[in-house]
Amino acid sequence: MKIICIGRNYVAHVLELKNEIPSSPVIFLKPKTALVHQSYPVHYPEFTDDLQYEAEVVLRISKNGKNIAERHARNYYDKWTIGIDFTARDLQQKLKKQGLPWELAKAFDGSCVVGDFVDIPKDMKNVPFELYQNEEKVQSGNTDNMIFSFDKIVNYVSKYFTLQMGDLIFTGTPEGVGPVLPYDELVGKLNGEELLKLTII
Ligand code: MG
Repeated sequence: MKIICIGRNYVAHVLELKNEIPSSPVIFLKPKTALVHQSYPVHYPEFTDDLQYEAEVVLRISKNGKNIAERHARNYYDKWTIGIDFTARDLQQKLKKQGLPWELAKAFDGSCVVGDFVDIPKDMKNVPFELYQNEEKVQSGNTDNMIFSFDKIVNYVSKYFTLQMGDLIFTGTPEGVGPVLPYDELVGKLNGEELLKLTII
C-alpha cells in the first residue's frame, strides 16, 4: 500500500506559500509507516519547530490499474474521507531552498492521518470540507476549487505508478495551513460530516 500526495492543487494555498501555479500535478509519496490511525495521538517530532496541518480530501483506490483514462478513473476509487498531510514546514522550506526532495519534511512517521472512509456522492463537485483546531475553524475548502480534478489526478498518477487496491491519494490542501502545538485537537469534516478527530502530543 502506498500513499500518494498532490501538492499545490488549490490556487489560494499555492499563493500563500509563494509557489507557482503548476501546469501538471505536483506529486510526492509517503510510506505506509507515515500513517497513524486517528485513535492514536500524533507525536510532535523532535526535528521540527514548525509542524503544520494540511487538511485534504483523501481517495481510497479500489481496483488495480495503470494508465487509467480520465473518463474511466471514477471506477478506480470507491470511498473518500478527510485526512491531514502533516508537514515539518521549517525543514521543507530549507529543503526547497536547497533544491532537495521533501521526504524528510513530509514522509516521517506519523505524518499522515485519515478519518473514517465513507461512500462518495454521485456529484463530487461543490463539496465543502473544513478543519477545526481546538474548535476554531482554520481551513475551509471546496472541491470546486481544485486545479486538477479527482479523475485527472488518477489519470496522471497512474501513468507513473500502478495504482493498487488500498492505495490512498491525498488530493491537496486549500489555504489556511498553519502550525499545531502539543495538546491541540484537530477535527475534520467532509460534506458536513465529522470524519476525523485527533490529538497532538
Ligand atoms: Mg499537502
